[in-house]
Amino acid sequence: MKVAIIGAGYTGMAIAKKISENNIPVTIFEKSLKVGGMTNNIQIGNIITDKYYRHLFKSDKELINLAKELNIEIKWFKSKMGYYIQDKLYNWGQPLTLLKFKPLSFMQKIKFGISVLKIKTIKNWKSLEQYTIKEWYQKNKIEDIYKIIWEPLLKNKFGKYSLTISMAWLWGKINLRQSEKGLIKETLGYIDNFEIMNNALKKYLEKNKVEIKTNTEIKNIKKENNKYKINNEDTQYDIVISTISYNETKQLFKQYLNTEEKKKMDKVKYIGVKNLVIESKKAISDYYWLNMADETIPFCGIIDYHNMENIKTKDIIYISNYIEETNELYHLKKEELLEKIYPYLKKINLNFEKEDIINYEMIEEKYTQPIIETNYSNDILDNKLQEKGLYICTLPQIYPEDRGVNYAIRSGYNLANKIIEDNNAELRFSMK
Ligand SMILES: Cc1cc2nc3c(=O)[nH]c(=O)nc-3n(C[C@H](O)[C@H](O)[C@H](O)COP(=O)(O)OP(=O)(O)OC[C@H]3O[C@@H](n4cnc5c(N)ncnc54)[C@H](O)[C@@H]3O)c2cc1C
Repeated sequence: MKVAIIGAGYTGMAIAKKISENNIPVTIFEKSLKVGGMTNNIQIGNIITDKYYRHLFKSDKELINLAKELNIEIKWFKSKMGYYIQDKLYNWGQPLTLLKFKPLSFMQKIKFGISVLKIKTIKNWKSLEQYTIKEWYQKNKIEDIYKIIWEPLLKNKFGKYSLTISMAWLWGKINLRQSEKGLIKETLGYIDNFEIMNNALKKYLEKNKVEIKTNTEIKNIKKENNKYKINNEDTQYDIVISTISYNETKQLFKQYLNTEEKKKMDKVKYIGVKNLVIESKKAISDYYWLNMADETIPFCGIIDYHNMENIKTKDIIYISNYIEETNELYHLKKEELLEKIYPYLKKINLNFEKEDIINYEMIEEKYTQPIIETNYSNDILDNKLQEKGLYICTLPQIYPEDRGVNYAIRSGYNLANKIIEDNNAELRFSMK
C-alpha cells in the first residue's frame, strides 16, 4: 500500500507519523516551501515570529505528548485576559474579575456566573446543538446576559453569521479548552518559535522514510486501474488523503464525490483572517489577550506578547480579525489596514503613538475558521469517502471542539489508526 497526503500542516504530518511508524510508505505534498501550514512563521523587521499568535492549554494532550517526543520545550505562563466594552477595559475570565465588571449589574453577575456553571455541568453537548447561542440564552430567560457579553463578541468575530452559531460551539469553548485556572490569571503554554517543532517533526518523518515534497501543489488527481496518480506523474497511490479545506478538496476530488458528500461540503461556510502583526516599542495594554466586545471596531482581539513571560519575541503584537472575502477590509493593503486600526489602538491606550510601531506585516488566509451552525453533527463528513481510497481529514470535521493544533494531531492520529486497521484487515483477508 502507498499513501499520498495533501498538505504538511499538523493534520497531514500527524497522519504521516502514525502511518510511517507502521512501515507503510507515505508521501506528503505541500504547496509552500515549508512544512507547518498555519503554524509557519514570518519575519517582522529582524524578528522571526509565528504568523498567528499561538498558545496551548493544559488539556492539549496530543500536542504536549508530541512536543515531549520531539524534545521541544513548552513554557508555561500566567496569562491575563481583558475585555474591552463600552470604551473601557476590564479584567476578564476569572471568578474574581467578574466582581469588578461594571457592564453587568449585581444580579446579572449572579445570573452570568450561574449560566457558566450550568454550561460546565452539561455533559451531553448534543442536547445543545439544536439552539443558536442567542436561542439558548432566551430559553433560559437570560437574554440580557447574551446581549451584554456574547452578542458583541460574536458579531465582531463572526459578522453576518453571528446569529447562526450553535450553542454547542460555545459549550466547547467553555468546557474543552481547559487551562489551569487561578483566581485572577490562567496558565497557558507556548513554544518559543513553533517552526523549531515543525522542523523537528519533519526530521522525524524523514527518518521514518516519509517523502516530503514541499513547493509542490497538487493540481490534479486521476484514478486509473484502482490507483491514483497525482499531477500526471507516474507514481501510483492506493490512498489519497486531503487535509485542506472543503472548497479546495472539492476541486481536486470533484469527479469522485457523490451527491451527499458534495452537499455536506457545500453546506459548510468559512471565514478567513486578515491580521496585522506589529513589532512595537510598547504594549497596548497589560493584557496578553484582549477581547474587543464592540462590532464597530475593525478587529476582534489583541494578543500582546509584551505580556507573556520570557518569550524571545516579546515585542510582537497580533491584531486579530476574522473576516470574509466579501468584507471591504479584506481587500485593504497593509498600510490602509493600519490606518483603519490605529485610531482604536490609540483609543485603548492614549499613550500608544504611531512611532511606537517599528515594523508590521499583514497576514491573510481564506479558510481558517469553519462556521459551526445548529445541528452541525448531522453535516459532518466521514473521513472515508465513498470512492475507494479517498479520505478527508480537515478543520470542519473537528467538533464540538474548535480548531487547534492539538485537535489537528488527534484527528490525524485517529484517521491513520483507522487506515492501518483497515489495511491489516484487508491483508488478513487476502491471506486466507
Ligand atoms: C489566527 C489563528 C490563530 C490560531 N491560534 C491557535 C492557537 O493559539 N493554538 C492552537 O492550537 N491553534 C491555533 N490556531 C489553529 C491551528 O493553527 C490550526 O487548527 C492547525 O494548524 C490546522 O492544521 P491543519 O494541518 O489542519 O491545516 P493547515 O495548517 O492549514 O495545513 C494545510 C496545508 O496544506 C497545504 N496545501 C493547501 N493546498 C494544497 C495543495 N493543493 N497541494 C499541496 N498542499 C496544499 C497548505 O499550504 C498547508 O500547509 C489558530 C489559527 C488561526 C487562523
